[in-house]
Amino acid sequence: MFDFQKSKLQCYKLDELESRSIEFFIKRDDLIDEFISGNKGRKLNLNLESAIHQKKSGILTFGGAYSNHLLATAAACQQVGMKSVGIVRGEELSKYSNHMLEQCSHFGMELKFVSRDQYALRHEKYYQESLLIEFPNFMLIPEGGANYLGIIGCQQIMREINRDFDHVFVAQGTTCTSVGIALSLPVKTTLHTVPVLKGFDAMNEMKNLMNSVGFEEQTIHNSLKNVLVHPESHVGGYGKVDTELLYFIEYFYAQTSVPLDPIYTGKVIYAMMNWIQVNNIENTSILFIHTGGLQGGKEMSKDYKIKFA
Ligand SMILES: *Cc1c(COP(=O)(O)O)cnc(C)c1O
Repeated sequence: MFDFQKSKLQCYKLDELESRSIEFFIKRDDLIDEFISGNKGRKLNLNLESAIHQKKSGILTFGGAYSNHLLATAAACQQVGMKSVGIVRGEELSKYSNHMLEQCSHFGMELKFVSRDQYALRHEKYYQESLLIEFPNFMLIPEGGANYLGIIGCQQIMREINRDFDHVFVAQGTTCTSVGIALSLPVKTTLHTVPVLKGFDAMNEMKNLMNSVGFEEQTIHNSLKNVLVHPESHVGGYGKVDTELLYFIEYFYAQTSVPLDPIYTGKVIYAMMNWIQVNNIENTSILFIHTGGLQGGKEMSKDYKIKFA
């Protein structure tokens, strides 16, 4: 359904890394699709396959005003000729509130705007069942595409990489992508995760997600053994930025021609460079999983009136 072959493994040269004899590669999942961006396509792939197989009428899912996941779902459903419904946090919003929501609507997604209190119920069975009465025969996918099939879709990322790395870096929202990677990591590789939410217990969230979809304790323990969380790299919290981060994103683009977004991927590379300097890391190999997200990032920057390429 998606052309994952567009995601290349590419080597990049940065002076700071060269001088430390660090090999640096990026897995370019951002190149998979303009709208079904990066890890969102990975998470939707098997879910959509299953929905088609089950002859579902559509996909119902959840997201915030700048959700890359909602946009990806809307675009993917349109491609396969399936309906889509997005439950959006914020009753004050409309499909004209920003370009992301406008695009979702343009792809045929029906947007239902709910209060923050109601949105907080998104994981509750009774609330989900009431939505499925309103939208019969729809398949419900949790926020961010974070379910079992989403994890298995993300497990595929490392399988496309034909060499080993000492370190892998990835951004974390729901933790679904990082869990998929952790499940497929070579034993000697450390997985570095950068949560973009403030006060987020990433390790526990990963455990809970794995638990909730039925992984065994031993599997959970083994796959999270080599995970290192960078909890203080969110730059103030979700969607928060500072000029240093924005300057860094511009600098990185000038050096590599790889665009980063200020919500997820920019914070990861920023944290990675910081970790290298603080710990004086040398003679190693690093892989960064570029999870995409440029659409939402650009839109949020516009609304926040911050300067961003
Ligand atoms: C959604 C998103 C993430 C978060 O992925 P999870 O699987 O929810 O942890 C990371 N990076 C980008 C660019 C995203 O859009």
